Amino acid sequence: MWNEAGLVASNLDIKKIGTLAGPNVKSWNSRRWGQEIREHSPLVPSHQIVGDVNPLKTERLTNAHHLAILDLKMEDFPTCDRPGGPAAPQPRAPHPSDCCGTGCCPCVHDIYEHDLKAWQRQRDLIRNGKQEERLISAALEPHKWTEFEIIRIDRVNSSTFLYSFKIADNQTLGIQVGQHIIVKQEKNGRVYTRQYTPVTDVDKQGVFEVLIKIYPNGKVTQIIKEWKMGDLIPWRGPFGDFLYATNTYKRVLMLAAGTGIAPMHQIIKKVVENEDDETSVKLYYASKTFSDVLLRESLAEFCQYWNFTMRYYLSDESDVRGNRRYREEVEARRVGKAEVQEELERGPLHSTLVLVCGTKSFEKDMVNSAKNANIPDENIYKF
Ligand SMILES: Cc1cc2nc3c(=O)[nH]c(=O)nc-3n(C[C@H](O)[C@H](O)[C@H](O)COP(=O)(O)OP(=O)(O)OC[C@H]3O[C@@H](n4cnc5c(N)ncnc54)[C@H](O)[C@@H]3O)c2cc1C
Repeated sequence: MWNEAGLVASNLDIKKIGTLAGPNVKSWNSRRWGQEIREHSPLVPSHQIVGDVNPLKTERLTNAHHLAILDLKMEDFPTCDRPGGPAAPQPRAPHPSDCCGTGCCPCVHDIYEHDLKAWQRQRDLIRNGKQEERLISAALEPHKWTEFEIIRIDRVNSSTFLYSFKIADNQTLGIQVGQHIIVKQEKNGRVYTRQYTPVTDVDKQGVFEVLIKIYPNGKVTQIIKEWKMGDLIPWRGPFGDFLYATNTYKRVLMLAAGTGIAPMHQIIKKVVENEDDETSVKLYYASKTFSDVLLRESLAEFCQYWNFTMRYYLSDESDVRGNRRYREEVEARRVGKAEVQEELERGPLHSTLVLVCGTKSFEKDMVNSAKNANIPDENIYKF
């Protein structure tokens, strides 16, 4: 059994425990941490990975409410010696200064020895062909169309559908946060391509999902409307030169309309779930009514993190008071160009990133507001 001292002295990578324990556990700064770790901690032993040395994080474990995960045995973690487990990276030896010298049991060095032996056993099994090495690969290729089977279609609102596509269990789609993929469709001998931004976690294996709004006069979305389960759809990617790097900016203002929420959603998720990311993110999300709003539950979850706030702008909502949920900030109008400018002028201009995604006219207005606020051009990105 682990005790507080044992875990404090451990070389487990907390982020990885978080990943294993549940989607919201990654952020140790999260207010919901204690709750989530209790809910999900039983999952920890059934998953993979031995951690790296992460002395910076160990101190946080002394906090009493983090002890929910301490009811674990050492063998629970180095699952690289478990049949069917993945080939884990070789454990890194702790630095002499990682040992606090207070006689912890197990000490970081004991854990390293244990992890190393487990890793060596796994390596030998793979070398001797007794265990298949399961490497995670990318399902998508940028230069070749790959067909993916539709395994689920969910109606999200009157005009938007969530399409789920099957990929192999040991594959991720292979895109980065903020990137998009391209679909190819044919009609009357003509080939059309359109971009879509998957809303699934970029690390997700076995499936990817895209949220697509169907336009009554849309050339491709009218074809998409006819998609059904089992159809094989050709995709290519990833594309897009936007790559989010942690802590590059002090704040990010996201200006999204309609399905323009898709790339923003990925980026918000990446920021809030990274405990090391100090970036403050604000989203202005324009839609017609509450029923047109996409990913509303997920956005409400993000609002529980300290560094994310948002406001809805609903141009046609007739009953804001009745349909507004607890803590949602809502304006029953379009996003004003002047207010965007004012908001931007309040902060450090050179350390502000402005992200814009929506209709052409929305994008034009929002980019102009950012420019009027003297945000440098290189800090304004239109998806
Ligand atoms: C980088 C990128 C990522 C995108 N990601 C997504 C996504 O995740 N989900 C999604 O649904 N769409 C997304 N789009 C938009 C998508 O690529 C298509 O433009 C959209 O599905 C319409 O295609 P269509 O052929 O049906 O419409 P078209 O035949 O090209 O256009 C017909 C009419 O539909 C309307 N229309 C088209 N596109 C838009 C729009 N974006 N906003 C408002 N009105 C529009 C206009 O009135 C237009 O005149 C993305 C676009 C880009 C550039």
